[in-house]
Amino acid sequence: MPPKKSTWKIAGVIGDPIDHSLSPHFQNALFTSCGLKVLYLPFLVKPEHLGKFLKQAKESRFLGLNITIPHKETILKYLDQIDETALKIGAVNTVVFRRGLLVGYNTDAPGYVQSLKNETGFVPKNKTVLLLGAGGAARAILYILAQQGAYQIYLANRTVSKAVLLAKRFKRFFPKTAMEPLPLTSHSLSKILPSVDLLVNATSIGMGGTQGTKIPLERLPHRSVISDLVYRPILTPLLSQAKRRGLKIHPGWGLLLSQGALSFELWTGIVPRLDIMKKALLDALVLRFINSAPNLFTQD
Ligand code: NAP
Repeated sequence: MPPKKSTWKIAGVIGDPIDHSLSPHFQNALFTSCGLKVLYLPFLVKPEHLGKFLKQAKESRFLGLNITIPHKETILKYLDQIDETALKIGAVNTVVFRRGLLVGYNTDAPGYVQSLKNETGFVPKNKTVLLLGAGGAARAILYILAQQGAYQIYLANRTVSKAVLLAKRFKRFFPKTAMEPLPLTSHSLSKILPSVDLLVNATSIGMGGTQGTKIPLERLPHRSVISDLVYRPILTPLLSQAKRRGLKIHPGWGLLLSQGALSFELWTGIVPRLDIMKKALLDALVLRFINSAPNLFTQD
């Protein structure tokens, strides 16, 4: 008898590097919990192979993809349709394979405000924000905070020219939100910190526990919320410092899960259970911690 045709579908995340991705853990837990025959895999895709990978995926049994560094912006030219929000942001983190077409979305932006509100109660309308960074993640955060009616957004980046370009791009869409580029130095930030309601780290500072620019958090008002997009470690140096000051914190796993939940919904039409995602993420983090710890049972 010929083998039965498989009904399994594939989903995944593409990036370079990709080993660090935690998405397979919680996405596979969701597909299993919903009884769906979908396997979510990490794919290492070099920039020069992106077009070829997508062409092959289009001809295969793909349901959807997440997109991470360095493809979020370059993928736009390979897509058949792009959702309006993703087009304005200029970055795509989710692709849906729909009737032979590749359709691009950005779930980082809506996922961020959703998680910020759920975890801290913060609502951006009429607030003053200090956004650190001007890379792919900062674009999505800037877009959504301005779209939600932030009053003023300071954009501080190590390379100031990138912050200037970002402010120029988004000012066109949101003329009511004041946007001011700044150098990422303690000196320039000191002056504005007393007026900041929300401080967002959208740089790689603190990733893997590394120290970075020292921000004088003591100059922030007590109402301020500190949000760090970096999620390894869960409690970054910035968040630890904020906690010691008694400020409300918003760790990076919130965005990781929210954007993943919205991607899952786009692929399947099902609103996923966050508790399942959280448990799978926690299990994966514990496993990584154990694997990275020195082997206590080795004699030499
Ligand atoms: P990206 O496009 O490569 O941008 C990196 C940003 O970090 C740039 O603004 C860069 O400044 C700045 N930067 C890097 N090293 C720095 C240093 N030593 N000192 C000061 N600034 C530095 O990366 P991205 O996609 O925006 O991601 C940024 C961070 O957000 C990463 O840590 C990523 O893991 C995290 N992230 C988390 C989630 C989540 O789900 N929680 C989602 C997306 C991203 P220059 O412009 O001067 O180079």
